[in-house]
Amino acid sequence: MTNRAYNFNAGPAALPLEVLQQAQQEFLDYAGAGMSIMEMSHRSSIFEEVNDGAQSLLRELFGIPNNYKVLFLQGGASTQFAMIPMNLLTPGKTAAFVNTGSWADKAIKEAKLFGETAIAASSEAYKYNRIPELGEIVIPENAAYLHVTSNETIEGTQYAKYPETGDVTLIGDLSSDILSRPVDVSKFGMIYAGAQKNLGPSGVTLVIVREDLVAESPKSIPTMLRYDTHVKNNSLYNTPPSFSIYLVGLMLKWVKERGGVAAVEQYNRDKTKLIYDTIDQSGGFYRGFAEASSRSQMNITFRLGSEELEKLFAKESEQNGFVGLKGHRSVGGLRASTYNAVPLESCKALAEFMADFQKRNG
Ligand code: PMP
Repeated sequence: MTNRAYNFNAGPAALPLEVLQQAQQEFLDYAGAGMSIMEMSHRSSIFEEVNDGAQSLLRELFGIPNNYKVLFLQGGASTQFAMIPMNLLTPGKTAAFVNTGSWADKAIKEAKLFGETAIAASSEAYKYNRIPELGEIVIPENAAYLHVTSNETIEGTQYAKYPETGDVTLIGDLSSDILSRPVDVSKFGMIYAGAQKNLGPSGVTLVIVREDLVAESPKSIPTMLRYDTHVKNNSLYNTPPSFSIYLVGLMLKWVKERGGVAAVEQYNRDKTKLIYDTIDQSGGFYRGFAEASSRSQMNITFRLGSEELEKLFAKESEQNGFVGLKGHRSVGGLRASTYNAVPLESCKALAEFMADFQKRNG
């Protein structure tokens, strides 16, 4: 199959061709059941195997300790912005945030609906072009938790290292960089991520949470928004997004076959180097939006000399088979999302297109 686009979409994003092909093969008849996985009861033993298989493969690949639960929920990472304070922001406590950009800001706004919040550090004054230095972070004494956004998808910044929070629970939104590099899960009380960038298709949200945090949710919370509901029922309290979970399972298998998360990280670095080097060696024709030390390995944001030139770049790149390069309207410019499933060949092609575009317009 040769007509695959150079897909740099920010999410939903590229999936590996091999994963799509396996799903295609199994589409009409999964495991000899005479039906698609989509047509199957979520209480069937076949689906339970899919659900449990995806969970245990994720545990293995991401090194999730035994005292953590893995949940597959719905509602996207955006629902977690509310579920976290509903469940974990206890009376008299403050939800502390590092405000790194558009997504951190959304998480903060949602938490404000449920209790007191504090900004432990912020890069708002820098238009969010960097992650604050870890030394800038001041956690209030009565913090219920500190929330960080591991990778700001829109601005293209990413933590190189996570803060040490001692006794304070660290919560991470890893929506746009989950499984792109090894993470010490034990440093976090909770990690969550929408699946549609690095894990699979949209429709399922991953939650990894330490057992003691979710043993019992406050009684007033609706059933579906309580973590303890989903913990007690192994994410099968109600009908789960079964097809999405199945695809997450295939995606995890693909990561394992490629040598695991550390191997994927190296591959990602090789990919982004091609594009960041092109930016850095362009003599100012391309300007990276993020400060070098905060650069994301997932979303490369850059600008050109004028909005006109940026429009021309977006138009010509589309004509040349590149998809999704227009930056988010809040930052402007261009953005190349290079999630796990984006092949090196796409990044090579983009770097070459960028060099050629500069030759013609520089
Ligand atoms: N957090 C981050 C870092 C994101 O990139 C996104 C989606 N782009 C979200 C949260 C929201 O995720 P969802 O659309 O799954 O609600």
